[in-house]
Amino acid sequence: MQEDTFRHKGMRQNLVQELKNKGITDSNVLDAIGAVPRHVFLDSSFVEFAYQDQAFPIGSGQTISQPLTVAMQSQLLNVSRGMKVLEIGTGSGYQSCILGHMGAKVFTIERQRNLYFKTKQLLAEFPYRINTFLGDGYKGLPTYGPFDRIIITAGAPEIPQDLVNQLKTGGIMVIPLNEQMLRITKQPDGTLKREEFGDCKFVPMLKNIGND
Ligand code: SAH
Repeated sequence: MQEDTFRHKGMRQNLVQELKNKGITDSNVLDAIGAVPRHVFLDSSFVEFAYQDQAFPIGSGQTISQPLTVAMQSQLLNVSRGMKVLEIGTGSGYQSCILGHMGAKVFTIERQRNLYFKTKQLLAEFPYRINTFLGDGYKGLPTYGPFDRIIITAGAPEIPQDLVNQLKTGGIMVIPLNEQMLRITKQPDGTLKREEFGDCKFVPMLKNIGND
């Protein structure tokens, strides 16, 4: 893993301040952003970009989400320590580490084979409770559920029913649905409460495992 210097730590604190200015208030989320070295998820030649509030290409045609998006989704998820969280779209692994730092037991699925193996290796170097899976996020992980929280980090065209089934009662799903950030809460009677949180842009959520 690339080293984490005082300079990186300083840049991270500036990013935390920027996210506060942009409306992030959850101190657990801000602590995690301040702690997890985002530059190790980018190619070493892009260190300068790691602590700017922007999305960035990570190879295999995928992107690491913008820090504000990661912070927003993590805040909407309302995570407490020990919760079981399912993430769809491992990508770089950065969001998994943010949730891991917040004390979640993370189960993360990636469909893109090369990215899956690359990120699995990197995540193993962190002290967090993160389990990686190669699979189709639309199907979730029926044998590991139900989950307290589900976070989808690719743009979904529909609310995947299998994932709703794997969400606990009272559980929360944060999903970018048709470019709108949506928070869904599963009510005791099985119905879904929906709250919208504005426009967002993500790489598409695709079906099945692949190398594309
Ligand atoms: N959470 C990531 C952001 C990843 S971008 C991060 O912190 O870096 C979205 C990712 O979702 C891509 O890696 C893409 O390959 C993956 N993806 C798209 N459709 C998927 C599906 N059906 N199941 C699992 N992963 C999927």
